[in-house]
Amino acid sequence: MIIGIDVGGTNIKSGLLDSNNNLVFDQSRPTGTTMDQILNNLEEIVIELKNRAETNFGSTISGVGIGVPGVVNKGLDHVFKCTNLGWNDIPLGKILKDRTGFDVFIDNDANLAALAEYYIGSLKDKETGVLLTLGTGVGCGVIINGKPYRGGNGLGLEIGHMVIGENFYNCSCGKNGCFETYASATAIVKHFQKLVDDENVKIDFEISSKEIFERAQKGEELPLKAVERYTDYLALGIVNVINVLDPEVISLGGGVSASGDFLMDKLTKKVTKNLFVEGFPSAVINYASAGNKAGVIGAALLAKEEISK
Ligand SMILES: [Zn+2]
Repeated sequence: MIIGIDVGGTNIKSGLLDSNNNLVFDQSRPTGTTMDQILNNLEEIVIELKNRAETNFGSTISGVGIGVPGVVNKGLDHVFKCTNLGWNDIPLGKILKDRTGFDVFIDNDANLAALAEYYIGSLKDKETGVLLTLGTGVGCGVIINGKPYRGGNGLGLEIGHMVIGENFYNCSCGKNGCFETYASATAIVKHFQKLVDDENVKIDFEISSKEIFERAQKGEELPLKAVERYTDYLALGIVNVINVLDPEVISLGGGVSASGDFLMDKLTKKVTKNLFVEGFPSAVINYASAGNKAGVIGAALLAKEEISK
């Protein structure tokens, strides 16, 4: 069996993947705040899952895969930067191998979600596919020739930070105009708040991307205005991805993807209108389908792939 771990800003999700790629056990616990706490939690999780594999499944562990919300080296053992967790230059693979004895492989969480989609979800059996996760930011994982693409140094295809305009607020990376400042859940909330302030409107609800989409669907003017701008820019970013990569599929995951046909219909119309070659076959756009455990499954699949090399 393989251990998969998905380290998020709030919770660490983890589980056991069997040889048929079934997640046979999974759990979640708070991430912790300090570096020491998080490392101790990760060590405990590995030991606990090793024991569980032996006791409940009569199985041993052949490796550990970990997803982190940050930048990882191409050797898959060193976390270069993880803004959410305040990590810089952490040799996480070596630290956990020393503490647990297992081989540990690490990758960016969006890359691993894409790997899970490739094995069991919306990118299944596609040679070339892109997963965009529309949440706090815009995460991106790319599969090329059936393999996760990481670029020359491990920083390949940070589509969320592709610059597509001049925006009214700066990106978390410090630059202005990044795709994620237009296309993340955070982006539509910030823009809606700006509309409310600019037009001096009184609202009686708490602003969230879910609320904005629901109200837009009912035809409310201001939410609809926010959704139109949101889908304009999301389509623009997707057209850029199509022009550069020409993937077979572009899947959308993250909170915003719960908006269903309402979002998808607007989006596909706007993408089609902006294609470089009109009428030529282009990427199918769909929603991610591997579910909310994709990060854990993808992490385990990473370790499985690396061990079998
Ligand atoms: Zn940025």
